[in-house]
Amino acid sequence: MTSTLEVTRHAYPPKVRTLTVARTETLSPTMRRFVLTGDELEPEFPFPRLTTATHVKVVVPQETTGVLEMPTLGPLGLAAPDGVELAIRDYTVRRFDSDARLLTLDFVLHEHGPAGRWAIGASDGDELGVLGPRGYTIYPAGFDRYVLGADETGLPALERWLEEAPAEAHIDAFVVAPEGGQRALPEHPNLTVQWIDGSGAGELARALVDATPGGDVRTYLWAAGESGIVGPLRQHLRTSEFTQTHFEVSGYWRAGRAGSGDHHEARS
Ligand SMILES: Cc1cc2nc3c(=O)[nH]c(=O)nc-3n(C[C@H](O)[C@H](O)[C@H](O)COP(=O)(O)OP(=O)(O)OC[C@H]3O[C@@H](n4cnc5c(N)ncnc54)[C@H](O)[C@@H]3O)c2cc1C
Repeated sequence: MTSTLEVTRHAYPPKVRTLTVARTETLSPTMRRFVLTGDELEPEFPFPRLTTATHVKVVVPQETTGVLEMPTLGPLGLAAPDGVELAIRDYTVRRFDSDARLLTLDFVLHEHGPAGRWAIGASDGDELGVLGPRGYTIYPAGFDRYVLGADETGLPALERWLEEAPAEAHIDAFVVAPEGGQRALPEHPNLTVQWIDGSGAGELARALVDATPGGDVRTYLWAAGESGIVGPLRQHLRTSEFTQTHFEVSGYWRAGRAGSGDHHEARS
């Protein structure tokens, strides 16, 4: 039997879908929501409670032509069309509505990479490739306290934590956002939120360390953000008294390097 303090992992068969933007929503000056739909979006797409960090891979249209070139799924896995370089990036499943068959992804808007640029320019009816998820993790519901940390790339998952964590647990959330990026978060009855200005992003790791003294058996820590910022936090936790199965710290992007960050799965 699975303990309510354990993380469990589940596989999901590979999928390749071309979806279209049904609608968009401005979340803040630096984040935009995309609600996607399409016949290839299966009703059984995995969205159980506390799978807060489930992510798909998006394929954005070729920037030179505007055409969406999609990989094919063969016996050896995914293959790009001949001579085509695909931009494939990770995005968190913010919401899935199986009745309406709508998948929601929230994008950080930035000019530095193809996915960020796509999110700035895309509009209703535009196509986006969506692969996966390859699996999903169900986080434990039995902790008294959850300490959460994220920059804007981790905010969609953090918001899911606020919606899906047990109501009786206490949540301390630390969020890095640029000026103007603060916004109302989902409500939780026992929540404290500390916003950290983007220019002081390094404070995130410090705040999380201060919030999680070693040996605190009833606290689960989840954090995601820029790799250079969250990496030292992961190292610290690995060598601390903090129970090694009670945290997950993931690099979601790395400054100066293309491709989603050095995502680390939970220790268990
Ligand atoms: C599991 C997982 C879940 C994720 N979920 C989300 C999500 O829900 N929403 C989301 O917005 N992102 C999310 N990310 C992060 C996203 O995959 C990366 O930010 C990705 O690099 C964006 O691709 P790009 O094509 O815009 O830039 P890339 O081509 O990958 O990078 C080009 C340049 O842009 C820089 N860059 C990349 N991301 C950012 C950024 N956010 N801000 C400023 N500069 C950046 C890089 O350092 C690089 O110099 C997630 C990543 C992982 C691993």
